Amino acid sequence: MSLYLPILMYHQIGVPAADHKPDLFVPAERFREHLKCLTDMGFRGIGPDAVVAALTGTGAKLPERPVLLTFDDASAPAFAPVIEALAAAGFPATAYFVAGDEEALPSRTALSAYVQAGVTIGSHCLTHRPLTSLSDEAVRAELVDSRFRLEAAAGGPVEHLAYPFGSYGSREKQIAREAGYRTAVSTRRGNRHRPGDIFCLRRVPVRPDTDCRKLARYLGAVWHCEHVVKETLRLERRGGK
Ligand SMILES: [Zn+2]
Repeated sequence: MSLYLPILMYHQIGVPAADHKPDLFVPAERFREHLKCLTDMGFRGIGPDAVVAALTGTGAKLPERPVLLTFDDASAPAFAPVIEALAAAGFPATAYFVAGDEEALPSRTALSAYVQAGVTIGSHCLTHRPLTSLSDEAVRAELVDSRFRLEAAAGGPVEHLAYPFGSYGSREKQIAREAGYRTAVSTRRGNRHRPGDIFCLRRVPVRPDTDCRKLARYLGAVWHCEHVVKETLRLERRGGK
């Protein structure tokens, strides 16, 4: 039995600087369009704690069409207008910050304002390196130290994680659990989850060319199944070598 709960994966909202990957920037107007489409389709925003409750069967029932909006590599100045748009449309969000990036990390005042506005602060590790390439000790430092730094800055618990580059394996899931996280999002595509996926939740990538028609398709059963099949075939090919 799997749970229908699309987790949208955004990076930055706005116009990319010349040295940034344009694919990771969704124009502000398009983002507002997404919020309107989601509302029109009857989606209601939830936070990651509700995901835990739903997957462990310990919480209140989810809305019929729940959606979680996540932002990786969230950075200080660019994120404020995003929060305004989210608040206007009535959607909470989860933003994953790179704790060791002093330039991008918002000030304590800004972080606590985000929390007040309904943003859940999550960790995107300390230095944004692919975890599977690191030693056990380095992975532990990335997960534990980032969590402590963000908790000190945000003045509240940080219990949700996004793996940089979607790089994780069974070791990373185990260390994330030991480090006190309650969920971790990956870059596996899909919009449904099984209880065992709580440390490798699937997401729906949103790009600049994702219009409402595409978004509606990504939120459907066919798109999910296509990706599960592709993933299974990839794993089989790898296993067969
Ligand atoms: Zn990232």
